[in-house]
Amino acid sequence: MKTYKIACIPGDGIGKEVIPAGQEVLQALAAAGPDFRFEFSSFGWGGDWYRAHGRMMPDDGLAQIRDVDAILFGSAGDPQIPDHVTLWGLRLKICQGFDQYANVRPTRILPGIDAPLKRCTPRDLDWVIVRENSEGEYAGVGGRVHQGHPIEVATDVSILTRAGVERIMRFAFKLAQSRPRKQLTVVTKSNAQRHGMVMWDEIALQISKEFPDVKWDKELVDACTARMVNRPASLDTLVATNLHADVLSDLAAALAGSLGIAPTGNIDPERRYPSMFEPIHGSAFDIMGKGLANPVGTFWSCVMLLEHLGERETAARLMKAIEEVTADTRLHTGDLGGKAKTADVTAAVCQRLKNR
Ligand code: ATP
Repeated sequence: MKTYKIACIPGDGIGKEVIPAGQEVLQALAAAGPDFRFEFSSFGWGGDWYRAHGRMMPDDGLAQIRDVDAILFGSAGDPQIPDHVTLWGLRLKICQGFDQYANVRPTRILPGIDAPLKRCTPRDLDWVIVRENSEGEYAGVGGRVHQGHPIEVATDVSILTRAGVERIMRFAFKLAQSRPRKQLTVVTKSNAQRHGMVMWDEIALQISKEFPDVKWDKELVDACTARMVNRPASLDTLVATNLHADVLSDLAAALAGSLGIAPTGNIDPERRYPSMFEPIHGSAFDIMGKGLANPVGTFWSCVMLLEHLGERETAARLMKAIEEVTADTRLHTGDLGGKAKTADVTAAVCQRLKNR
């Protein structure tokens, strides 16, 4: 029997609640079928680790998880630690250390979810946003001089490399090609950012020639926000830079009904390193420790994890169980206007997996 090694990093806040729920669901899946099992290892990195050790994860942290098949991540964020420390010290360290250059964010309106767009049916909104995850505006290049003086200067330099843009474009075109509509929107801002984004556009055109069956268009990022709201059905797969996609995917999650539902995968398409799957929400300290967190974003991330492992049938089985559960409004958590708890949703999904 195959054994998949999964590293679990709950991190902070509600990450500590939704990741164990995700493990429970994965165990239920493995128990229901004879094909494979999971071997979990858990790592207590994050805000508490920082308080004890002065850093978010140990120096050899990447080496400790280098050989797993996939990583399930909760969230990093702590009210007592600056956000840039928590982000760069854990999540980005893993994404960059393992060159997980493609961040993939599917968005759909799941059954039973009351999404805010009045004129939009669930069929109209079925997107995957591909976010460049290794450079761009979040390359970490920049600095501050004359700190505290009136002449202080601070810079963040966006870095776009030809190799980096080519590989994310190729990934996005390939993903678009694998979806029924074979359609890609390249998000840009080349009217205002006249160097990096112009190269981005040129490379999109160049890579498009390798995918003659994919229909593609370009959209300015500001216009794209309006298009997501006004003409959601005109979009399918999107590719955007690190910052642009960061903003667009939060909008996408909100349009699909809640931040608590949306999943994401930080993927190394070449599979040199393990890929990492996580709900897109943060640590949500306002609801932590109360059992109120919606675990659906984590469960959907588990679906992506299973797809990445090549377990497509099992992934589809889990997605079906999730959709059956969201369709029952009695199983909605507070973010969806319901009263259910994390444990109720988890038990309901596990029950449906057992019943098959
Ligand atoms: P961070 O600083 O770590 O990004 P945050 O608390 O600022 O975290 P999010 O956690 O992304 O931001 O979410 C904002 C709000 O949305 C939360 O305060 C919470 O009320 C709600 N929320 C987010 N995720 C969930 C979830 N899984 N279940 C229920 N509510 C959620």
